[in-house]
Amino acid sequence: MSDKNLRNIVIVGGGTAGWMAAATLGRFLKDSFCKVRLIEAEDIPTVGVGEATIPQIQVFNRTLGIDENEFIKRTQGTFKLGIEFVNWGKVGDSYIHAFGDVGNDMDSLQFYHYWWKMRQQGHADDIGAYSLNAVAAPLGKFMRSVDAGNSPLSKIVYAYQFDAGLYAQFLREYAGARGVSRTLAKIVETRLRASDGFIESVVLDNGEIVQGDLFIDCSGFQGLLIEKALNTGFEDWSHWLPCDRAWAVPCERTEPLLPYTRSTAHSAGWQWRIPLQHRTGNGHVFSSKFMGEDEAREILMANLSGKALAEPRLLKFSTGKRLKAWNKNCVAFGLSGGFIEPLESTSIHLVQSGIARLMSLFPNRDFNQHDIDLFNQQTDFEYERIRDFIILHYKATERSDSEFWNYCRTMSIPDSLKQKIDQFMENGQIHRTNMELFNDTSWLEVFHGQGMHPKSYHPLVDLVADDELKRRMAFIKNVIDKSVEAMPSQQEFIQHYCLA
Ligand code: FAD
Repeated sequence: MSDKNLRNIVIVGGGTAGWMAAATLGRFLKDSFCKVRLIEAEDIPTVGVGEATIPQIQVFNRTLGIDENEFIKRTQGTFKLGIEFVNWGKVGDSYIHAFGDVGNDMDSLQFYHYWWKMRQQGHADDIGAYSLNAVAAPLGKFMRSVDAGNSPLSKIVYAYQFDAGLYAQFLREYAGARGVSRTLAKIVETRLRASDGFIESVVLDNGEIVQGDLFIDCSGFQGLLIEKALNTGFEDWSHWLPCDRAWAVPCERTEPLLPYTRSTAHSAGWQWRIPLQHRTGNGHVFSSKFMGEDEAREILMANLSGKALAEPRLLKFSTGKRLKAWNKNCVAFGLSGGFIEPLESTSIHLVQSGIARLMSLFPNRDFNQHDIDLFNQQTDFEYERIRDFIILHYKATERSDSEFWNYCRTMSIPDSLKQKIDQFMENGQIHRTNMELFNDTSWLEVFHGQGMHPKSYHPLVDLVADDELKRRMAFIKNVIDKSVEAMPSQQEFIQHYCLA
């Protein structure tokens, strides 16, 4: 065994990020050369929101060996097939950004090139009609994929919606059972090593000095270690994503258990609705430059589908990321690393992918700078591409009914996004670069859903006769409709498979 191995890892913060990191390290380092300790302050609350996810979370849970039914039961969870966007392109419009495939690729060209030709000729329905998830979601239907040959039922793609507090508690038990120790105390000081500025220890309010080789900062927006102690710096993206506040409140669930999140645009932001088993999560994300806090609160409370179960809570945030997610012997996950508003439910995924990256570039006490640089490059790329996708939702709008929408519609955008839009608008081409998170189908659904349509389609589409294309379109739609008919409601599915 190398004498350079890490011996002590200290995680600061017991929110979703801290416990996700602790569970993973517990799973892989149990009974090893390295001890893991998590410190959280009882009187500094967690953010407590963060209830909707994307399908990659299944990989995280599976890596930990978590049983899906138990997870759904313990977190009051539901399944999520996509997000419905209401009033984004225009007031009155709605579309679903659904997970999973749209149509079937033909002759090695993506389905949507054929679809766009047929759509322009009036021979195809809206793109959502060719997505199993988009058809099933509003009908409240859900099932896990089954071995069903070429049927879309063999490849249903889904994520989860869950109670963030219960998820953190679940992971806490998991990590505790794998040797992660937990200390309830407030960190009052961070000490740096004089020789190189690495973090040496943190001092607790009970006087204890906790030393570590690696410190994982999950302390929330403030970035207790990465920013307050190491002054890493923050790249601010609020000129592209001006929302900087959210009111959040749970309410009684009055509608059936719907397998999707809804995002409804308002005049200076948008409202989420996340159906869980025991309640519905709601929040109004808004820009304080364009709307006062009281007005934003009123809008939220006037648009709940059931009785509020608590007083609304105001959360303030800045959109952007740390200049380095890994600085010296400190890695930041979650809100201390950066924040992109929850429009596409990406924050928990960013925690997950950061943890996976750390495990793959796991350091010893020499802290190889090349590995740290690579970690930061990959993190930056991932954040920037997600940022572009979120900006697209604001930029691709015809709304002119408020100062906020006028700003968003006319603002300048990052070059990387401009290039993507320009290419798409020309001939419908969308290309995923270097494992960026959102694939061409996601981009396509938002482009078309918000009224951005390309001038033309891929030239090779003309190799297939129009009659044949019409036949294939009708066939795919028919298979999807039949498949959805065969699906149970999510309510029945959860009752029968997860809670039984
Ligand atoms: P926090 O929850 O803030 O936890 C910080 C921890 O640090 C706490 O335990 C606190 O006690 C501890 N701490 C702080 N200071 C000290 C100290 N001095 N000493 C000891 N301990 C300390 N993500 C999604 O994926 N999907 C969503 O739908 C979603 N919705 C969101 C909506 C809003 C409005 C916001 C703001 C975020 C949302 N997120 C969402 C993001 C998600 O909530 C966070 O990514 C996630 O909760 C992780 O938070 P965290 O653990 O980094 O920080």
